[in-house]
Amino acid sequence: MKGEIMMTQPCVLYIIIPCYNEESVLPLTAPVFLDKLREMTEKKLISDESRILFVNDGSWDGTWQIISGLARQDRHYIGISQSRNRGHQNAVLAGLMEAKDRCDITISIDCDGQDDPNAMEEMVRQYRSGYEIVYGVRSRRETDTFFKRFTAESFYRLLSWMGVEVVFNHADYRLISNRVLNELQGFREVNIYLRGMIPLIGFRSTEVPYERHERLAGDSHYPLSKMLSLAFDGITSLSVKPIRMIASLGVFVSILSFILIIWCVAQYFLGNTVPGWSSLCAIVCFVGGIQLVSLGIIGEYIGKIYLETKARPRYIISERTYEDNESVQGQPVSAKNQTDEMSGKRGGEAT
Ligand code: UDP
Ligand code: MG
Repeated sequence: MKGEIMMTQPCVLYIIIPCYNEESVLPLTAPVFLDKLREMTEKKLISDESRILFVNDGSWDGTWQIISGLARQDRHYIGISQSRNRGHQNAVLAGLMEAKDRCDITISIDCDGQDDPNAMEEMVRQYRSGYEIVYGVRSRRETDTFFKRFTAESFYRLLSWMGVEVVFNHADYRLISNRVLNELQGFREVNIYLRGMIPLIGFRSTEVPYERHERLAGDSHYPLSKMLSLAFDGITSLSVKPIRMIASLGVFVSILSFILIIWCVAQYFLGNTVPGWSSLCAIVCFVGGIQLVSLGIIGEYIGKIYLETKARPRYIISERTYEDNESVQGQPVSAKNQTDEMSGKRGGEAT
């Protein structure tokens, strides 16, 4: 069994770090990740073949230059660049698939220093004791604003109410083994929401708590509008409950209308037919509103089906700091026009 070998031998770890316009924070956090990697290597938890893999998500600032510079400095730093910005989830997926055949385990972590890198060691230990997935779970959210904490926690509750299995207060800081990555490859959807997809894969999983810090520099790329769109995507990618709710609402409104019709007929026989213009207007507006909202939600699902049937690649890697098949120090290797599709994988435009 591979898992048993892992317990005695240091395993190859790839730390996957998505970066989007992070030139101000990367020079601060990159050495922290490297120190952590060295520390774990010295403790013989991971092998010296482990790497820090930056995924440049189509940044328009100097992020890729910094990543290329780091790759020249130390062979443990490597990087890939997406041909354009595709969003955090696609960037993480690109990194995971790039690492899949090169390592035993991956840990995905944000590059802004908010996720405590010290939790990685415990994650690796949990893997070595037999867990295939280790979720980093925020133990405190004090550094987040009340608004961010409230919206994030309400979102987790809403998701589980919608029937999407998510780990409470877990973002995308997690360890997954090569075995899980191989299964993840079989999830062909292009509207990806990793937090909801990974629990569906199964295998033994556990949680490691960590403290969420302040961003070391730069600003969050998740303003309210992006957070809402991620929440909406998460729900509509993984749950059909909203459609069922529309159906239930339809039944409810129909029953209400039926009662109203009886009331109208009764009013007719009582001779009160002229008044009632306002109630009629209200009903027409109410039903019209419900119909439009329902159509919108159904439209969202149809839009997702549309993207899935297009089967576009989920990410396109334009450059690497190394050759595709081997690790090379030095000059970034340009692999322009190279479409990186996982074997048989399909894609789309969802971010
Ligand atoms: N990120 C990305 N593509 C994007 C937006 C963000 O790769 O389109 C990366 C970003 O560089 C960071 C991580 O995703 O490493 C989390 O983003 P951010 O810190 O802005 O989000 P927050 O922590 O505020 O939710
Ligand atoms: Mg952040």
